[in-house]
Amino acid sequence: MARTPLMAGNWKMNLDHLEAAALVQRLYWELQDANFDYSKVEVVVLPPFTDLRSTQTVTDADSMHIKYGAQDVSTHPDGAYTGEISARMLAKLGCSYVVVGHSERRQYHGETDQEVGQKALAAFGGEMVPIICVGEPLPVRKSGEHVAYTLAQLDGVFAELSGELARDAVVAYEPVWAIGTGEVATADDAEEVCAAIRVRLGELFGGDVSQRVRVLYGGSVKASNVAGIMAQPNVDGALVGGASLDAAEFARICRFHDHVA
Ligand code: PEP
Repeated sequence: MARTPLMAGNWKMNLDHLEAAALVQRLYWELQDANFDYSKVEVVVLPPFTDLRSTQTVTDADSMHIKYGAQDVSTHPDGAYTGEISARMLAKLGCSYVVVGHSERRQYHGETDQEVGQKALAAFGGEMVPIICVGEPLPVRKSGEHVAYTLAQLDGVFAELSGELARDAVVAYEPVWAIGTGEVATADDAEEVCAAIRVRLGELFGGDVSQRVRVLYGGSVKASNVAGIMAQPNVDGALVGGASLDAAEFARICRFHDHVA
């Protein structure tokens, strides 16, 4: 089955709402100048919550094909949860995607696999697609247990989801040691774990689901290394942090088809 590649830019806690509007506009122009074909690669930006309204306004005004989403969502539908943002609120702002279980949320906010699964469920409840992040820290990589560790996270998250929902999820394999460090996993490292994720999805939900789910790689992706990573058969896109804050660089990443691997 042909899976449309997905390039998602995680802006993390950067840019106010005016800067966000300017960045999405610049990205659009960069892609426009290159006659970018959005039917071949899906382009998504993931701004902070406070930037979503401006992102919606700018993308709607120019009928951009750039999609957007949030970096987190509450497991709760509404109520006395000070500081949280519900799936319904994000859906109302036109979000298509929600990142759940990013390693920074797991590390600094103690999110468990079960909670991440519930967040994915909440995203689906708002008719958004969760981008479910998994991946091992450095000591686990050094011990050689990275595949088992990542698959255990996957099992824990997907235990909260039915096959009906799982088929529409996106999984992002992000080795923690490669996030924001400049330390990129080799294309073979990325392929090893992304392929194992696909096999496990097949064991959990069957071949139809495993062939359909897009598995992204994330960790210091740049225009200079994206082509080799995207050449791997089980890598369907990238979750890009730092490099997505530069419109020209992120546009080059989205145009990976134009690079030689
Ligand atoms: C991320 O934040 O998900 C990420 C992969 O960051 P970076 O590209 O900066 O490593």
